[in-house]
Amino acid sequence: MFSNFKITDTFMRFKKILLILIISSITVFSACNEHDSSKTQTAQEASKSLQPIIIQGALPIESERMAAKLDNVNVETIGGWKFWKGTYQGYPVVISKTRMGMSNSAAATALAIERYKPIAIINQGTAGGHDPALKVYDIVLGRYSTNIGAFKTPKKALGQGSNTLDWNEAFDVLPDDESDPEPIAIRKFQGNEQLIKAAFIAKQHYTKGNVVEGTIGSTDVWNNELDRIAFFRTHYQTSVEEMEAASVAQIAYQFNVPFLGIRILSNNLTNGGDYDAGTGEACQDFVLNVASEYMKAQLAAKK
Ligand code: SAH
Repeated sequence: MFSNFKITDTFMRFKKILLILIISSITVFSACNEHDSSKTQTAQEASKSLQPIIIQGALPIESERMAAKLDNVNVETIGGWKFWKGTYQGYPVVISKTRMGMSNSAAATALAIERYKPIAIINQGTAGGHDPALKVYDIVLGRYSTNIGAFKTPKKALGQGSNTLDWNEAFDVLPDDESDPEPIAIRKFQGNEQLIKAAFIAKQHYTKGNVVEGTIGSTDVWNNELDRIAFFRTHYQTSVEEMEAASVAQIAYQFNVPFLGIRILSNNLTNGGDYDAGTGEACQDFVLNVASEYMKAQLAAKK
C-alpha cells in the first residue's frame, strides 16, 4: 500500500515536470519565431523594472514630435509644465515641455525628478553655433554644460559706461563653500558617460549632419554680437549657446540624476548659418534613439 502510493507520487511528479518542459519549450520556440514580439516583451519587462528616462524640450517644436511617438500616453500638467508619460519601444519615457529659459527649465526638472524618479534626464533642442566649424543640423553632445549668464562685473562709476567684453569674472551660483561671498569660477557640469555612449551608438543612424562632443553654454540672453560670441568661445570653449541645458544640469547634479544636454544647431551666426525650424524635429528623432540605446544598456546591465 505504502510503496504503491510512492510509485503514484513519483509518476505524478514526472508528469508535472514533463508538462513544465513542454510549456517552456513552446515559449522558447515562439519567442525565436517572433523576434519582434520578443523584443517588445523584453522592453515591456523594462517598463516594470526600469524607472523612466526624461527627455526635455523647451518649445512645442522641440517636444511634440517625441510625445506623438509614445505609446500608452498619459498627459500630466503641473503648473505651467506639461509632461507626456508613456512608453517608447516598450521603454518607460516621460517627455517634458519645459518652456524657454533657465528658471522654467529648472522648475520643470525639479518637479519631474520628484514626481517620476527618473533613471536619467536628457535636455535637448535647438541652439545657436559659437564654433564656425559647426553647421546647421550638426549635433553637439554636451560633454560639458555651463552657465554663461552669471558674472561679477568690474566696478565702474556713473558715466563710465558698460562693456560686457570686460566681464571676465564668472560667478559660480553653486559654490562648494556656501560661505564664500564671491565665488568666482566657471562651473562646468559633466555629461553622463553612459548617455554619451548611447549617443555615439545613435550617431550611426544620423544622416543630417555631424555629431560631436562639446560645451553647451546657457543663459537667458540671445547673443547676436560676434565679439561677444568670440568671448564665450575663448573663455568657456562653447560650441553652442541656448537657454536651458546648464540650468537643468545644475538641478540634476544636486539630485544626483545622470544628465546629458544634446543640442542641434538651428542657426550659426559665426558662419552665416540661417535659422532652420526643421532642426527641432531632427534632434527629437536623434534623441529618441539615444534614449532607447541607453535604456537597452541599462536593462542589459540589470540582467
Ligand atoms: N526663433 C524660435 C524661438 C526660439 S528662441 C522660433 O521661432 O521657433 C529661444 C529658444 O531656442 C530657447 O529655448 C533656446 O534654448 C533655443 N535657441 C536656439 N537658438 C538660440 C540662440 N542662438 N541663442 C539662444 N537660444 C537659442
